[in-house]
Amino acid sequence: MREEAMNTVDLDQRHVWHPFSQEQTAPAPLPVARAKGASLYLEDGQELLDLASSWWVNVHGHCHPAIAEALAGQARTLAHVIFAGFTHAPAAQLAQALVRALPRPLNRVFYSDNGSTAVEAALKMAFQSWRNRGERRRTLFLAFEGAYHGDTFGAMSVGRSSGFYAPFEDVLLKVRFLPFAETWQGDKNVEQREAAALAALDAILKRDGHRLAGFIAEPLVQGASGMRLCRPEFLRAVCERVAAHNVPVILDEVMTGFGRTGTLFALEQAGVVPDIVCLSKGLTGGFLPLAATVATSAVYETFLGQDFSTAFAHGHSYTANPLGCAAALASLALFESEGTLARIAAIRQANMRWLDEAATLPGVTRPRALGSIAAVNLGPEGNGGGDYHSSLGPKLKARCLELGLLVRPLGNVVYLMPPACITPEELARAHGLTLQVLRETAHLYAPA
Ligand SMILES: *Cc1c(COP(=O)(O)O)cnc(C)c1O
Repeated sequence: MREEAMNTVDLDQRHVWHPFSQEQTAPAPLPVARAKGASLYLEDGQELLDLASSWWVNVHGHCHPAIAEALAGQARTLAHVIFAGFTHAPAAQLAQALVRALPRPLNRVFYSDNGSTAVEAALKMAFQSWRNRGERRRTLFLAFEGAYHGDTFGAMSVGRSSGFYAPFEDVLLKVRFLPFAETWQGDKNVEQREAAALAALDAILKRDGHRLAGFIAEPLVQGASGMRLCRPEFLRAVCERVAAHNVPVILDEVMTGFGRTGTLFALEQAGVVPDIVCLSKGLTGGFLPLAATVATSAVYETFLGQDFSTAFAHGHSYTANPLGCAAALASLALFESEGTLARIAAIRQANMRWLDEAATLPGVTRPRALGSIAAVNLGPEGNGGGDYHSSLGPKLKARCLELGLLVRPLGNVVYLMPPACITPEELARAHGLTLQVLRETAHLYAPA
């Protein structure tokens, strides 16, 4: 067929390579024509409720008019400019807004394009900061088992245990991994698990504390490995021990930032003030790729000097893109004007009732909720999260699509993470239909 006559999907199938997909066996992608609020509309008119916030980026709903307006105005004024030696109002104002929203010592904003580059910049900052001070022994990083920090080489290194990176094993950075003390509703052994993790941490710090360049963690919830929660006091205890060995703490708030966990940032609930924080996904409300790595002045000052040798020689063509910054400023303003955190609290309340019902179903275990996130595991207890080779996820996803829901299980973990704009009626529909899917599919995972 002549390509001019092809529809979106056929053209896509001929030329596009999709992310995180086995192209040979994946079902054909669905063509999305437009989106509004919590809904996507396919080219054939079918509506899908976006319960994954489009890979965790959408905050206030799709195509929010206030962000769209800010973006259109900025596009007519200044779409992009080199950011070395130049600046512009959207970047300066966004840096101010982020610094005001974060704990006080975090006051230097380094812009990049996505979550992986925000993490990459943070790891390089932590590493070079030691070099700039003449300390060359600190070449290791510390991270949690089950962590996910993105897909570039540094980010893969500290997220190696997510299991995506086997082909690259030989060429990754050296990292020590510590157990993540996961918890859930009704969990009776969390204190034991935390004590074991802290003991493992103490052993690592005793042996390698002086060789660690930095520690990185997703605060309160590990996203990609299956929406695994930990208690704030556990994260705090880990960060305190790490900091006591002078190891800089990097919090990766790429998923948790901008309200997802019920506060603007998860670090507020954990009571942890990191040396560096990574932001992306929700930063622009889900409109454009933009990221920020925010460092303390103490970190920043180690890069100052009379020549270029101590400078942070890192940057991207689209660093601090004005359109992204304008979208981010408009998105932040909506937190005030729309009471976004109150909306997320209401979503959590409704999600708790969904979890109560789900937990009565056969094979449904480990109910848990944080902010607008609710999740359960399917299958026998002890069957931890995020097994991407499980065939369960694709089956559940397909059934949800038939019922008008975008749900993307992480292996045997089913989670809901709607944008804050979802209405009580839409959420009730999502809850009812997902319970129906769990009942229908129980034979696939529930013990007989
Ligand atoms: C998604 C994610 C990343 C990577 O972000 P990209 O924009 O996909 O590169 C990093 N860290 C966490 C915690 C994430 O959830």
